[in-house]
Amino acid sequence: MVTTHEQQTTQRAGQLYEQAAQSQMDYWADRARNELYWDTPFTEVLDWSNPPFAKWFADGTTNACYNAVDRHVEAGHGDRVAIHFEGEPGDTDTVTYADMQVRVSQAANALESLGVTKGDRVAIYLPMLVESVVAILACARIGAVHSVVFGGFSAEALRSRIDDAQAKVVITADGSFRRGKPNMLKPIVDDSLAKPGHTVEHVLVVARNKEDVHWVEDRDIWFHELVNEQPTTHQVTWHEAEHPLFILYTSGTTGQPKGLMHTTGGYLTQVTATMRDTFDLQPETDVFWCTADVGWVTGHSYIVYGPMANGATQVLYEGTPDTPHRGRWWEMVEKYGVTILYTAPTAIRSAMKWGRDVADRYDLSSLRLLGSVGEAINPEAWDWYREVIGQNAGAGTVNADDTVTPGPRKTELVPIADTWWQTETGAHILTPLPALHADELKPGSAQRAVPGVSVDVVDDQGNSMQDTSQGFLVIRDPWPAMARTIWGNDERFVDTYWSRFDGMYFAGDGARFDEDGDIWLLGRVDDVMNVSGHRLSTTEVESALVAHDLVAEAAVVGAADDTTGQAIYAFVILTEDSEGADQDEAEAALRAHVGSHIGPIAKPKRILVTTDLPKTRSGKIMRRLLKDAAEGQTEADPTALATLADPAVMEEILSGMQQR
Ligand code: ATP
Ligand code: MG
Repeated sequence: MVTTHEQQTTQRAGQLYEQAAQSQMDYWADRARNELYWDTPFTEVLDWSNPPFAKWFADGTTNACYNAVDRHVEAGHGDRVAIHFEGEPGDTDTVTYADMQVRVSQAANALESLGVTKGDRVAIYLPMLVESVVAILACARIGAVHSVVFGGFSAEALRSRIDDAQAKVVITADGSFRRGKPNMLKPIVDDSLAKPGHTVEHVLVVARNKEDVHWVEDRDIWFHELVNEQPTTHQVTWHEAEHPLFILYTSGTTGQPKGLMHTTGGYLTQVTATMRDTFDLQPETDVFWCTADVGWVTGHSYIVYGPMANGATQVLYEGTPDTPHRGRWWEMVEKYGVTILYTAPTAIRSAMKWGRDVADRYDLSSLRLLGSVGEAINPEAWDWYREVIGQNAGAGTVNADDTVTPGPRKTELVPIADTWWQTETGAHILTPLPALHADELKPGSAQRAVPGVSVDVVDDQGNSMQDTSQGFLVIRDPWPAMARTIWGNDERFVDTYWSRFDGMYFAGDGARFDEDGDIWLLGRVDDVMNVSGHRLSTTEVESALVAHDLVAEAAVVGAADDTTGQAIYAFVILTEDSEGADQDEAEAALRAHVGSHIGPIAKPKRILVTTDLPKTRSGKIMRRLLKDAAEGQTEADPTALATLADPAVMEEILSGMQQR
């Protein structure tokens, strides 16, 4: 009998759960040995003698860069494309694993020539370029700790991160291309270093958009000038499994950013394993595309380390989805034959808002698996993602009036992996394994823990929930990719994550089980609403709103209310077809809709139609600011405002709230 690919992966995925159920320790030890090359094999799996400070595989040595690059070349896959780079203006670069080996070797030599040694910190403030991946891996190679700061952060935010990590070198670019225009980075680095008292000795500058930049002699060095003259080989050295790999700050939705520290062996084990399992990755044939920025944990784990450690081929894109037109992503899926797409709900909701005619112009038949990350995905968006993007089996016909008649549709359903995880967790924690669970997927639920991780939903005493009401998401046992601490602040690490419940990791998100025991994420615990004694989830009310034809996006908050304790306020963006709808009628229709969808208690007290929502630079809705607006504040909190991608959106919302 011939076993098909589907049967094989289903069988394999099933075995993973079985094996993990027998012994989590054996399971992770096996995965570590099978997924990675260890120069000194480890003998101890987990040292949990000083909780919550875990040590995984501590007496083993390895090298993350060697695992991501060299070993694939040594195995004869040097000609395989590692990265299909596409710049926003349309320039491209095809980088094989053999090319990558040369590039990381030269970059590692360059860093060493600047005196960077093992344990030194390097800040990376770059746009989405091949050099970003090269810089990260070069640090890993020599054991320097990278701290990537998202390219949209201000000089002040960059400086505080440079200071926090005491970075010796900053790697940046003159700038990038964004929405068709040069977007400068170097001036921001200059500003951030203007005040003395920092630790930076050199700034390495990638020449990308070739705009004029200010130059500080002796400090600033062109990346290409230094790197291109270096030897093309570099001897790998081996690092202890617990050697720090990177520091990364959370996106800042809930206040002061935290610099989570991740180490080498455990992190790479779980990232490599989940990359393969969640996405059913076939490195020989798949073309993977994760649309996140390398500045976020998704970019670290599922652009740099996960795909590369698996020897996969991926797409890396510099720009925005709507430049020069709204079909840019779908055009790229068609062009590169992308088979697995991993993106965020915010991007899917934007695509929905623009309408399916945009995507239907392209042939998306190569796609066989879709992923989502960053926020709960509304069931409406999940369905759209699957039906419009996933089932597309060929370009449609563009009619004379510019409408599109969709092309053929796939008959089989494309699975979606809704992955819940955090900067703190390092790698996927909750997700169905689409290869195994394709027939049991539930739109809007991340469903279950990956093999080897024990997740629970507990009440405020830490007892496992016995019904389907809202509780707190926790992780019961240590897992390999867990952050080891907050850089330089063990106490804050313990306080934030390990003191709410005894011996459990507190994720900060609300969740509930359903009747089948599947897990539904309900939003951040800080955002939970309490109306007349009923606890309501922001996520559920938002999803109800998005399910209405009028609504493209929704954000919901609970604001202090004299009679009900809290009252629900909703902020909605209408679909392009509904723009211009009467405000009062829309509000009435939506209130009724939420009432019938969830119950009268969930009806928003007020619904404000707005053209945009406050989002962090990683695309997440910042509910804190909306809550302030709903509670009558007339000015936005400046620190929260500073973390928004577009602070101006709050003006419309604040004035809208004051009009009635
Ligand atoms: P900060 O901790 O500074 O507020 P952040 O939590 O947004 O920032 P990340 O670590 O990037 O920083 O995001 C993790 C959070 O994103 C999760 O705690 C959860 O709230 C949300 N999230 C991520 N993926 C999902 C998902 N699939 N479903 C629901 N929520 C998700
Ligand atoms: Mg968080």
